[in-house]
Amino acid sequence: MTSAIGVIRVSGRDCIEIVEKCFNRSLKDKKGNTLTHGYIVDPMTGKTVDEVVVALFRAPASYTGEDVVEISCHGSVYILNKVIKILISCGARQAEKGEFTKRAFINGKLDTVKAESIIDLIESQTEREAAVAMEHLKGGLSEEINQIRDALLAVSAQIMAYIDYPDDEIEELEPDNLSAILTEQHSRVKKLLLSFEKGKLIKNGISVCIAGKPNAGKSSLMNRLTGYDRSIVTDIEGTTRDIVEETVSVRGLKVRLSDTAGIRETDDKVEKIGVERAYGKLSTADMILAVFDGSRDISEEDEELINAIKNMRAKKIAVINKSDLPERLDTSKINGFDSFVRISSLDNYNLDGLADEMEKLFSSELEINDSEIITNERQFQCLSKAEAALSQCVGDVQLPPDVLEICIEDAIDALAVVLGKSVGEDILHTIFSRFCVGK
Ligand code: GDP
Repeated sequence: MTSAIGVIRVSGRDCIEIVEKCFNRSLKDKKGNTLTHGYIVDPMTGKTVDEVVVALFRAPASYTGEDVVEISCHGSVYILNKVIKILISCGARQAEKGEFTKRAFINGKLDTVKAESIIDLIESQTEREAAVAMEHLKGGLSEEINQIRDALLAVSAQIMAYIDYPDDEIEELEPDNLSAILTEQHSRVKKLLLSFEKGKLIKNGISVCIAGKPNAGKSSLMNRLTGYDRSIVTDIEGTTRDIVEETVSVRGLKVRLSDTAGIRETDDKVEKIGVERAYGKLSTADMILAVFDGSRDISEEDEELINAIKNMRAKKIAVINKSDLPERLDTSKINGFDSFVRISSLDNYNLDGLADEMEKLFSSELEINDSEIITNERQFQCLSKAEAALSQCVGDVQLPPDVLEICIEDAIDALAVVLGKSVGEDILHTIFSRFCVGK
């Protein structure tokens, strides 16, 4: 793929010297945060390869915390590869996946929560996903975890002093006071854990299942929502035999749409499997768009669907399709839905109304009113450990001080791991291998 500009980044102690070997301007006397225009020249052949702008950042005021040179080349894949080869011949080496961010982490520029938010930001597909990642990058979540940890460290230090120097005049923590501090930190951790449900919806998307009898217009609706022809649209019944899935953004919400097989009694073996899978998918969906053909009387299949989904946990919207035709459907029989919308997939009528309803039904769950939303399984696991440790001492501050201290210490350690303090190479590898080369 070609782009207008391609940026090659070089980081590390010798990076200025290396770039100078193939750049026709001197950089060593330049200040950090400066741009220099010039040419990349192949030192082997003396030929000019590209006209570039070189940005210089000096340690520690750079992304990695080291000296960094960023060469903005023209975006041709040939030119970019050529410049990389030249840089390697001058002493650079290809970065590993995520190595720039890993170096930034090692040099104390960011913690692992912020590092993970960078990859989340890069991978974000919707407004809300990007907003949460940006909040994490700004440090809201790290700050919250640090504050909880600091409060526990203070308590721990006091208990340790009491254990180590029992005869000295060290003020013993009042049980009520101790209990209040631990309970507060425990609730803060629990609040973070609870936010994971919201975080998962934002990051992984809401699973929305389109269901309805054959020919109601499910595939047509799916195509309208995805904006292109992803599903097969025909007027022969039962063509969508399996589940077609697509991720789309609806009002900034990530939505994982599935277009299921038409739900109906069938003797066709393959179609039967499709119908069974459709029921399976419906039972785990967050939202069901039940599509009805508004131009026809209600059928047994419609009633079967209404019955089948009525006790399912999903939020349900009755979508009365084919509103371009005279309405024959007796809508009084369509009960048990959270919302009711008339559309025409053919004329593109009222898709906005449907999007409004979808947004409305999830607005409370997805409101981003604070920055402390966990979106990451690793963070969730560490916080769960902290919660388990704290739950042992909350409510039982009469435990012997050394036992209390062990629980608090476990919680402190688990919180440290969330932020990447004292974590092993294996955890770092897992985090940074999600990154692409060059970030
Ligand atoms: P599915 O079996 O439920 O997936 O239904 P399809 O999306 O394949 O649509 C079945 C037939 O209904 C096709 O011929 C569509 O062109 C037609 N159709 C879909 N939506 C509308 C609509 O809003 N109005 C009209 N008049 N026809 C529609």
